[in-house]
Amino acid sequence: MFLSLRHSFMFLVTLFLTSKASLQDAPVTKISVTNRNIQSFTNAGRGNIITGISQFKRYLSRFGYLKNNDAFSDKFDASFESALIKYQRNLGLQVTGKLDSNTVSQMITPRCGVPDTRKTRHHQNRIHNTTHFVYFPGKPRWSHDNDMPMTLTYGFSRDYMIHKLSLQEIRETFKRAFSRWSSVIPVSFVEAEDYGFADIKIGFYSGDHGDGEPFDGVLGVLAHSFSPEIGRLHLDAAETWAVDFKVTKSEVAVDLESVATHEIGHLLGLSHSSVKEAVMYPSLRPRDKRADLNIDDIKGVQSLYGSNPNFRSQWSLESDISANHGEKFGVDTFRLFIIGLIIVIALFYII
Ligand SMILES: [Zn+2]
Ligand SMILES: [Zn+2]
Repeated sequence: MFLSLRHSFMFLVTLFLTSKASLQDAPVTKISVTNRNIQSFTNAGRGNIITGISQFKRYLSRFGYLKNNDAFSDKFDASFESALIKYQRNLGLQVTGKLDSNTVSQMITPRCGVPDTRKTRHHQNRIHNTTHFVYFPGKPRWSHDNDMPMTLTYGFSRDYMIHKLSLQEIRETFKRAFSRWSSVIPVSFVEAEDYGFADIKIGFYSGDHGDGEPFDGVLGVLAHSFSPEIGRLHLDAAETWAVDFKVTKSEVAVDLESVATHEIGHLLGLSHSSVKEAVMYPSLRPRDKRADLNIDDIKGVQSLYGSNPNFRSQWSLESDISANHGEKFGVDTFRLFIIGLIIVIALFYII
């Protein structure tokens, strides 16, 4: 189902060798490790100097964990350790402060290009309910004169399209992705007749496309989008986008619906979640699918827009069912107890 770790390493090494020169000073979105040097990274701790540590610093800087610094050294220093700890916490990993294999494996998994901001965080822990959704700084959301229900329009750029999938397939996939969100909040999405006037503009772009967030070719960063009310959703045209893995057999195929659903979450105002099952979790493995909204995604978006009046969550239905079962169980037990008591009294009198 997924690329094996070894396979990913080989693949990324090839990519690294072909583009090493251009990546030397640039932010890193693709970590390259080999079976030979992985050991030196996993054993590294504060104070160690190991060739290749600088790429992890560039990676953590790219996704919001370290300040931009032109001269990232290969020293495992205190600021690198604390960035690593923040990264592990945000990605729901075991917090070790080390480049352990789970952390490195997570870093080589393709992901969204939006940095993992943690400035406006909603964190709530209850016995059976933990939410980790996050907003963008300032908690922006679409207002549209504060009218609810609200309708937002979207359109596809005709100039920035891919041709391995038909426009029809792309339109249907996005329609499903939008409807996942509109089923839980009082916001509906309709395709605009005129792309130029659409609230949300969707396109597939290659490399540097003018917004300061260049795409990086196959895997690495898959897509990015902007917080409300910018309304731009960009997908990396270099990916092998798939709507059906039975048709698209490539090992590096990426599920368009999962990525579309995730990026729409950003457009609505959600940032990355540390819940691995959430649509708003930042990474997605090739040939993996994660398009169903998790309770964490639903609570996050409903705290921005309120609930769709027609929405009744699966979770509340489940709790109703278990409550009914509980009630039924209680009534049945009571009946059996009374019958048993009558039999015992009857037997007492007979004997
Ligand atoms: Zn994202
Ligand atoms: Zn872009």
